[in-house]
Amino acid sequence: MASEAHELALLLSGRCRACAERLPGGAALRGRPCPACDTPTAPTGADRAELATRFHARATVRMWVAVLVVAAATLLTGWAPLAASLVLAGGLAWVAGAIVRPALRLLPTSRRLVAAWTLRVVGAGYLAVLVVFVELLTLLPGIGLPVKAAVTAGQVGLGAWFARTYLGWQAARELRREPVGVGELGFLAAAAAALVAALTGAMVALSWLLERLAAAAGVLT
Ligand SMILES: [Zn+2]
Repeated sequence: MASEAHELALLLSGRCRACAERLPGGAALRGRPCPACDTPTAPTGADRAELATRFHARATVRMWVAVLVVAAATLLTGWAPLAASLVLAGGLAWVAGAIVRPALRLLPTSRRLVAAWTLRVVGAGYLAVLVVFVELLTLLPGIGLPVKAAVTAGQVGLGAWFARTYLGWQAARELRREPVGVGELGFLAAAAAALVAALTGAMVALSWLLERLAAAAGVLT
């Protein structure tokens, strides 16, 4: 039982359950044997479904870790203007390393590229919107740290949830042996358009903010 768990852990990290060599992307989800030692990876449909379930469970645990750590870090440092944005960026970077990267390793090259770029583009647009939002929150009077912590943690949680759901969808397509589809590419194109819109919006909001700050400073002096 322990060795079975160990073997599944190896498969989850994209390695062969017998020789621990790195498997080519998609090998486990498609049930192909290890190219180095020829040991079957996840030979039956039930094995592959189990792999996907465990993957989802692990991503869920890591998502909640991110939410709790970000909430605590914002409570401790959120009084400083840029700290909440840095915590936010750190939280999303952790999601990228702990949830996204291991999942991408299980996908074959073409699907991995589409998924990686989609998440990068969505992540960049999301971060641009969030930074403006969180900094505006700092300027509002009467917004306490607990509210800010809850908002920041919720935003990281939403990002992690999106990454987990999107990657689960990609893994499910891979399990059904579907090729990279028009829908996936369309989603990437839509995300790219949204990124341009988000960056433009963030620039406008920031310049408005700076103007306001300059005007306030002018009143004071
Ligand atoms: Zn092997």
